[in-house]
Amino acid sequence: MYKIEVEDTLLDRLKEKHWLWFKNHLTKTFSKKPKDTYGAFIKKIFGWDESVLENIIKGSKRELEDVIKKVQAKKIACESLQIFRNDPHKSAKQKQNKFHEKVMKAFGYDNFIDQKKSWDAYELCESLKIDVCPYCNRQYIFTVDNQSGMVRPELDHYFPKQKYPYLSACFFNLIPSCSVCNHLKSSQDDRVVYPYENEFGKHGMFRLKSRRWDRDIITISELVRMPGVYIKIDNLRTSLGKQINNSKKVFNLDVLYNMQSIELNDLISRYQNFTGANKVGLKRMFKGVDVERLILGIPLNPQKRYIMQKFKEDIIKHLNSLKRR
Ligand SMILES: [Zn+2]
Repeated sequence: MYKIEVEDTLLDRLKEKHWLWFKNHLTKTFSKKPKDTYGAFIKKIFGWDESVLENIIKGSKRELEDVIKKVQAKKIACESLQIFRNDPHKSAKQKQNKFHEKVMKAFGYDNFIDQKKSWDAYELCESLKIDVCPYCNRQYIFTVDNQSGMVRPELDHYFPKQKYPYLSACFFNLIPSCSVCNHLKSSQDDRVVYPYENEFGKHGMFRLKSRRWDRDIITISELVRMPGVYIKIDNLRTSLGKQINNSKKVFNLDVLYNMQSIELNDLISRYQNFTGANKVGLKRMFKGVDVERLILGIPLNPQKRYIMQKFKEDIIKHLNSLKRR
């Protein structure tokens, strides 16, 4: 729903830190044998050496999509049956699961979220300073440091780790999000809006809907019957339109926003009590302040991210367009 805005220089620095952590991780071993490193395992299964891995770990969404295509073309999962051919585990499914577990371990994601060292999931979230869930805009996702009690956003895997374990530690596959969104998306593989590149913006707008007639409300008088809300997508055929539609479904946005009727009722009530007549006096009283935003309870600094901000701004636009009858 919201684009993650981080300066390129900071991103470059964080990507480098992340890569150094991963590079160091590659030298760790599965067993006591010094040759049994995670790096050696990855090379054997995927054929990726350190320089290829650097591009993958730091890779953009487009690059990760290319990696997926290559891996699928090589049918690497079949390798699992070879690796465990002498394993007492009998079924192919069990062997696949064990292979998945081994690949996850080799790519070190569990180690990254559990590390509590110089570079880990806390450091990543803290450095990105994303305060609002980019998927739903309904919840704050703060990072609280070690001394104060360790709280951080959950990290959603844009390309699910269940299906693509080899992308589980890639920098641009880790999306700080609220726990509701992370759990709703889970292993679903529908391409939702990718927050490092896109957002809903004007292509996916909240609208007021008549619960009675199941259409947009068109007159002020219809506000008497409390309307519902939904996200209107301007063009479902574009790739962004499809992604917005997937986000709506995966994160259950229409349903969850309708659950927050307390916010909607409050907004409509503020809107109806704010008339042109009291505008002049209020402007005099609050010089230099956007009185309309103040009264409607919309954050005064539009540059910052607040929860429910897009919802409120879109609904006000719809209210302003209603016919007075
Ligand atoms: Zn969320």
